Amino acid sequence: MEIHNLMEDMVRSTVDELFDADKPGQPSWCTCQQCRMDVACYVLNRMKPEYVVSSRGVAHAEQDYNEKLQRLADVVSTVREGWARINATRRPHFDHTSVAPVISLPDGPVYNIPPIMGRLFDGATFAPIDNLAVSLLDEKGQLVPMMDGNWQNPCPLVKNTGGTFIFWTYPVLATSERPERLFTFRVSAQAEGYDELSHFVELRLAVENKAQDQFSMQAVYKLPDMYLFPPTKDEDLESE
Ligand SMILES: [Zn+2]
Repeated sequence: MEIHNLMEDMVRSTVDELFDADKPGQPSWCTCQQCRMDVACYVLNRMKPEYVVSSRGVAHAEQDYNEKLQRLADVVSTVREGWARINATRRPHFDHTSVAPVISLPDGPVYNIPPIMGRLFDGATFAPIDNLAVSLLDEKGQLVPMMDGNWQNPCPLVKNTGGTFIFWTYPVLATSERPERLFTFRVSAQAEGYDELSHFVELRLAVENKAQDQFSMQAVYKLPDMYLFPPTKDEDLESE
């Protein structure tokens, strides 16, 4: 069963509506894809999520019309607030010129690799790890290419994100007639003071006609939580 946050749909569509309006917030405000994502994150971090599991949940959430209007009003005002803030602190390193990200995706049948997400903890303290980068490697041990510049491989773990890493892989062109293919990836993390972590991920994927260019939390493949441990000392091994 899939868990879905209805608030995410509402926030994304409201952001697009306001950003695409004839008179967006202030004429100087940026409407690029990165700023849209930043504003959507700003709003989602401030609104109560609304999780549903099934179509029944969706129907139920749609019932209270007045409440829905109120929520929409809250979303709109929070989008405006977030947009103003994000413009004031515009990311300097990012190219704000593009209206939509220019990703050239492979033409024709592809394997769409779902975004792969996991969390990394210190096995001794159970604290999330935030001072290293996690890599996603292919069968040959090469770094797997990501969808675009917003996704990094190795993926650095940053403070206050609970040790979360996420990879969104560039689609793989299907070169044979096989309707499905087994992909083996390796999640790897190496840091001083810890044993190397290797976790294999096997995904059997069906070939699809079109490359997936929309990121969807629903499609995310969640890995089990992973732990890094201090290296086993030689004397421990000998005493066994
Ligand atoms: Zn921008």
